[in-house]
Amino acid sequence: VKNYLGEIKKNAHLNAFNEVFETEALAKAKEIDQRIQNGTAGKLAGMVIAIKDNICYKGHEVNASSKILKGFTSIYSSTIVERLLAQDAVIIGRCNCDEFAMGGSNENSFFGPVKNYADETRVSGGSSGGSAVAVQANMCHAAIGTDTGGSVRQPASFCGVIGFKPTYGRISRHGIIAYASSFDQVGPITRSVEDAALLYEVMAGSDEYDDTLAQREVESITINKEKPAPKKIAYLQEAISSPGVDTEVKDALVKYIDKLRAEGHTVKPIAFEQLDYMVPAYYILASAEASSNLARYDGVHYGFRSPSATDLQSTYKRSRSEGFGKEVKRRIMLGTFVLSAGYYDAYYAKAQKVRRLIREKTEEILNEYDFILIPTAPEPAFAIGAEEKDPVVTYLYDIFTVQASLSGVPAISLPVGNNTEGLPLGLQLLTKHFNEQQLLDFSEYFH
Ligand code: GLN
Repeated sequence: VKNYLGEIKKNAHLNAFNEVFETEALAKAKEIDQRIQNGTAGKLAGMVIAIKDNICYKGHEVNASSKILKGFTSIYSSTIVERLLAQDAVIIGRCNCDEFAMGGSNENSFFGPVKNYADETRVSGGSSGGSAVAVQANMCHAAIGTDTGGSVRQPASFCGVIGFKPTYGRISRHGIIAYASSFDQVGPITRSVEDAALLYEVMAGSDEYDDTLAQREVESITINKEKPAPKKIAYLQEAISSPGVDTEVKDALVKYIDKLRAEGHTVKPIAFEQLDYMVPAYYILASAEASSNLARYDGVHYGFRSPSATDLQSTYKRSRSEGFGKEVKRRIMLGTFVLSAGYYDAYYAKAQKVRRLIREKTEEILNEYDFILIPTAPEPAFAIGAEEKDPVVTYLYDIFTVQASLSGVPAISLPVGNNTEGLPLGLQLLTKHFNEQQLLDFSEYFH
């Protein structure tokens, strides 16, 4: 803990943490040392973890990097925090993120962008940017993020670490600040596949506070260090043929395809007809859910209240106008629009149908193949400020991550080295619902 606290101080300028729980983490470490000596310590004893600032931890501030929640203290802990603590993890602090997890670069945070440790002029990725950099810059062993449309996997790929999004319905969302509930999923960011598996095992499983969870036992994951039996892998043809994908990202993909083939796996190209509809469908549905989830921030119940409000209506209006940032407002307006009576069928209902098609097609592919291999992002980390003016450009960066989110299947981003400028690159593996064991096992070998 002392070592990590030192690293956090040294790297404070990266802006990865919104708060560090220094005194508490040191005290907790002492307690756990005792338990280790008594032989009563939990599975995560010795593991120092950072959590994204949209995860509730009783008695600690949680603000989703938004002004509207500034100063709000959690009155209970999320299920995952309870499970991590029960296994003797030390939680060292809460990490910066895009406001309400909306974004892909961590530039939408009220507390400013997080800098990429590989190149401080570049973004960390997002929305779990602080969590990814905390692991990348060795400020903790592992971090917990949330992934709605790629927010664990994409920053992990920008930072050269592992980001794992389990099957939707595997890990409790109780105590996670909701963005888009039918997509939101907690996931670990780690440096090893084994750590990802361990954290998954501890966090997963049914919870009386989250009805969307699968009622099935959580397998205990064993990571096989030997070469796996030959697998069938599909890759997206367009990831190589599209001019929108960076050449070094393509090169990395081709290199891994060749390597897998040389080692006896079957690797085949596939076309995905609905590719162009993935990002629009995701943004319509996620914004619709967000507009509903964020209605609760009214200036009365939580956090910030506008000091210039004079009556109830102006409390709502001014607190929301002053409390939410630009991107969050954009999503609330977009979501409210697609849910409005006159446009519901044209947008929301249609996007639901597209989502079903994407899920069916993804399942069909995964019935034939063990894994889908695609890049995590079409480009490596871009310069801070570069995409600020055009939100649609940043939305399109999610092209490869939203498929797993729309279909609910597990996916993992694995680091595959750096480009010529020294920026990390990541590739992603997707697999069938609840096939975490095989996915993690193969990830160990793959990466
Ligand atoms: N970039 C996507 C968005 O802005 C994904 C965010 C996330 O997964 N939380 O919605």
